[in-house]
Amino acid sequence: MTSLVGTPALADLRGHRISTELFIGGRWTSTASAFDVTNPSTGEVIAAMSDAGPQDGSLAMDAAVLAAEAWAAMSPRARANLFHAAHALLVERADAFAEVMVLESGKPRAEAAGEFALSAGFFQWYAEQIAHLHGTFASGSPGGYRIITTHQPVGPCFLITPWNFPLLMSARKAGAALAAGCTVIIKSAKETPLTAALFVQTLEDAGFPPGVVNLLHTSDSAALSEQVMSDPRLRKISFTGSTGVGSTLLAKAASNIVNASMELGGDGPFIVLDDADIDLAVREAIVCKFRNAGQACVAANRIILHEAIAEEFTQKFIAQAAQLRVGDGFDDGVDVGPIISERQLERVARLVAQFTEAGAELLIGGSRIDRTGNFFAPTVFRAGSLSGELCNEELFAPVAALYTVSSGEEALAFANATPYGLASYLFTNDLSRAFVLAEKLEFGMVGINRGIMADPAAAFGGTKASGLGREGGHDGIYEFLEPKYLAVTIDETRGAHA
Ligand code: NAD
Repeated sequence: MTSLVGTPALADLRGHRISTELFIGGRWTSTASAFDVTNPSTGEVIAAMSDAGPQDGSLAMDAAVLAAEAWAAMSPRARANLFHAAHALLVERADAFAEVMVLESGKPRAEAAGEFALSAGFFQWYAEQIAHLHGTFASGSPGGYRIITTHQPVGPCFLITPWNFPLLMSARKAGAALAAGCTVIIKSAKETPLTAALFVQTLEDAGFPPGVVNLLHTSDSAALSEQVMSDPRLRKISFTGSTGVGSTLLAKAASNIVNASMELGGDGPFIVLDDADIDLAVREAIVCKFRNAGQACVAANRIILHEAIAEEFTQKFIAQAAQLRVGDGFDDGVDVGPIISERQLERVARLVAQFTEAGAELLIGGSRIDRTGNFFAPTVFRAGSLSGELCNEELFAPVAALYTVSSGEEALAFANATPYGLASYLFTNDLSRAFVLAEKLEFGMVGINRGIMADPAAAFGGTKASGLGREGGHDGIYEFLEPKYLAVTIDETRGAHA
C-alpha cells in the first residue's frame, strides 16, 4: 500500500491528487486548523483535513445562494449532459475511489468496489431522469381556468453524510439534489472526509459550475451545522445518521420551517419462515449481517427464525460466519474489515457483555481480535426468546443475534415491536404468505428472499423513528423539488370565485 501523508493535499492516489481542503464557491480553501483522519485497520494518521468552522458554513451558503438561480435555470439537457460527464469520470476513477474508501474506512476492497458501482449508478440513473420530470394539468372546477402544477428546485440544500458508506451517501443525496436543480453544501463525516473530497473533485472536473457543489469537513459538526441551519437562506436539510442527531436537527429545522429528509437508524428484522430455502436465507443473512462489519443501518439486527428450521439455519449460519476472514480491507481474501473507531469498538464490547448477562448463548466470537487495528471477531448469539430493550438496540457491528418464534404471526409481532422502521427481510417460498406479511411489516423496505436491496431506481427510506422521506428513484428527486400551482384563466365568465 502507498504511504499517504497529506497536508494540504494527499499524495497522488493512482494519479488523483485528493485535496484535504474545503471546497467553497469553486475554490479549494485551507483553514488555520486541521483535524486528523486515521486508518482504522492500522491506526495510522493518513491525512490532516482543513477544519471548517461556523464562518465557513456562512461562506459556503453565500456560494450556494449565488449559484442557485443559474443552476436552476440550466436546461434539463445541459444538466443531463453534465451528469453523463460526471458518471464517465467517476467510472474512470473507480480504482482511486475504492482505494481511498478502503484507506479511511477499512472496508474490504470488493465491498468498496461494490459501493463505488452503486454510487456511480446514481449519476447514470439521474442523468436519464433529468429531462423526464413532469408536472400535472387539470381543469378548474367551474371550467373557466386550468390548474397547472410544475416542480421547482427547493433551493440551497445542506447534505450531512455518515462514515459507513461515504461515497454512496454523498452520491445518493447530491445526485438527487443536483438533478433537481438545487445547489448543495455537503458535510462529510470526520472519519471519512477523503472519499467525499475525491467525489467533489470529480464533479468539479466534470464541469459543475462554481458554487453548485460545496464541501465542508469539520471536527465540530454541531457548531458548523448550527450556523448553516440558522441561515434563513437554507431551504432543505437531508441527513443520514443516528436517530439522536437526526432528532436534534429536525427540531432545528422545525424552528426555522426548513424542509427536511432524515435517513436514521434501523433495527432490521430478518425473518426466516418454516418453508424458506434455508441455504439461500443463510447466504443472504451472512451478507446482510456482516457486510461493512455490520455497520449498516439496513443490517439484519434481529434474525428471527421459525422453530422448525432454527437449528438447521443456526448450524449453517455459524459454519459460514466462522469462515469469514477479518482484516485490513487491502489484504486479499478479507471479508470483514475493522470497526470504524476505538469508541465504537468499546460500544460493541459493551453490547456483547449485555447479551451475555441477559442470558443469550454465545456461539462464536465475542471479543476484540488481539492485534493492531479495530478488529472484532464475527460473533453469533443464540438469543432464543430474549425480549426487552436490548433486542431493539442497533448493533452496528459484526454481531448477530438469532431469535426463535413458533409461527409467522409471532415473527411479525416481534419484527414490528421496535421504534424503528427502516429495512426488513422475509424468507419464504409461499408467495401469498410473503405478500400478506410484507404488507403488515411496519418498515419502509421489505426484502423478499433477498438480503441486499440498494438500487438507484428504488426509493430507500424508513418509517417511524427511522426517518422521513426517501432517497433514490423518482421519489428521491421529488424530495428536492416543490410543486408550484399556476391557475390560468381561459374563460373569465366561467371562473367564478367561491
Ligand atoms: P451520527 O449521527 O453520529 O453522524 C452522522 C453525521 O452527522 C456525521 O456527518 C456527523 O459528523 C454528523 N453529526 C454528528 N453530530 C452532529 C450534530 N450535533 N449536528 C450536526 N451533525 C452532526 O451517526 P454515525 O455514527 O456517523 O452513523 C451511525 C448511525 O447512522 C447509525 O445509527 C445508522 O443507523 C445511521 N445510518 C442511517 C442510514 C440510513 O440511510 N438510514 C445510513 C447510514 C447510517
